[in-house]
Amino acid sequence: MPIDATLPYDDENIFAKILRGEIPSKKVYEDEWAYAFHDIAPQAPLHILVIPKGRYVSWDDFSAKASADEIAGFVRAVGTIARDHDLVEPGYRLLGNVGADGGQEVPHLHVHLFGGKPLGRMISA
Ligand code: AMP
Repeated sequence: MPIDATLPYDDENIFAKILRGEIPSKKVYEDEWAYAFHDIAPQAPLHILVIPKGRYVSWDDFSAKASADEIAGFVRAVGTIARDHDLVEPGYRLLGNVGADGGQEVPHLHVHLFGGKPLGRMISA
């Protein structure tokens, strides 16, 4: 069910629980600013979710309120994960869903990283 991205942060959302280690995840990367894990329902041969450690509902929330260090750390983590998986030469796709029209279902900012095959020109509706 898509969320309202203007709602306050909910500490009981599933990615908050993953960050706290309360539910399992298949971790692929972690540093001071970001945590990354395999999507539970992959939509490409490689489908990783990258989330900031901070309490941000969406890209809107993050871009408005996160510090420069948090933003730089998160963006660098996404790039590092792609390089670590040798995705730069074949290429990959980043996707960030925001709010109801964006189809965002989990109210903790996440970037989808897709790779492992040609992904076509754009997502289908
Ligand atoms: P979005 O629609 O952008 O909010 O994407 C949420 C993503 O989270 C979906 O691709 C789900 O498959 C994924 N997801 C939901 N629960 C989990 C979980 N426990 N572990 C890993 N991925 C999850």
